[in-house]
Amino acid sequence: MQVIATTSGISDFVKQQKESQHSIAIVPTMGGLHKGHLALIASAISMADVVIVSLFVNPAQFGVNEDLDSYPANLAQDLALLHSYKIAAVFTPDIKDIYPLADSFAITAPDIANYWCGSSRPDFFHGISLVILKLLILINPDIAVFGKKDYQQLHIIKLLVKDFLLNIKVVGIDTIRESDGLACSTRNKYFDTKDRKIAPIFYQTILETKAMLLDNKSIIDVKKYAIDKLSKNFSVDYFAIINGDNLLECASVDNNMIIIAAVLLGKIRLIDNIKVQDNV
Ligand code: AMP
Repeated sequence: MQVIATTSGISDFVKQQKESQHSIAIVPTMGGLHKGHLALIASAISMADVVIVSLFVNPAQFGVNEDLDSYPANLAQDLALLHSYKIAAVFTPDIKDIYPLADSFAITAPDIANYWCGSSRPDFFHGISLVILKLLILINPDIAVFGKKDYQQLHIIKLLVKDFLLNIKVVGIDTIRESDGLACSTRNKYFDTKDRKIAPIFYQTILETKAMLLDNKSIIDVKKYAIDKLSKNFSVDYFAIINGDNLLECASVDNNMIIIAAVLLGKIRLIDNIKVQDNV
């Protein structure tokens, strides 16, 4: 496994791989690796000859009051974890490598970036789109792998690849969870023991609402139930039942419904989602 810190280094590496006709998959991450990231990496390994994992905490996607300076990534730990995987290269650029101009270009993601997570994190999806576009241009992989846990992010990246005419397959991987159902997340490390016990109620409530929808309860009733229940333990950012193709709220039941939600527990933001009809 090569650890490559510079854009020229990764370009040379990619050039060699392409000359050898190797297919390339990239797994972009911000480090602080956990089982969810590792599942993405394992899938990438099964799909391409060569896997590149990027570890880069992207300042453009953090808001002013967010945890950019304390984001719990740990390069030494991450590299130690990655060593046991068949990864060809780990890309660990600095901010200046990815943003060489002090006054950087920006891109504006489509309106969908302002819904759901975007309404409380206005810079978020524009910043993610920018860094992913840069990584995809730099590495030009055949496949890019992302988690379905960040459903809206995955959707926007698919739009980004389409709109910028990139010939890259975007693959979404199912959410990996702790044994009590809490979706694995780098920020779970922030929880104290008390809040860590409360956190799984989030996913349990989402599961309950899925069962209610499958039991033909109305969308309005389900939403009310969920918001009431979640509000007992969390500050609810949003809870919505959306169509998986356009991410718009469903007015009535359809066969591609996704329950999508974000809550705050103390200062820690949790997001999660689940498909209602598994077999459709
Ligand atoms: P991050 O490091 O948080 O930017 O995440 C990097 C990638 O890992 C993104 O594509 C996420 O959607 C994905 N990811 C994060 N948590 C999970 C999880 N629990 N299960 C599956 N994928 C995840």
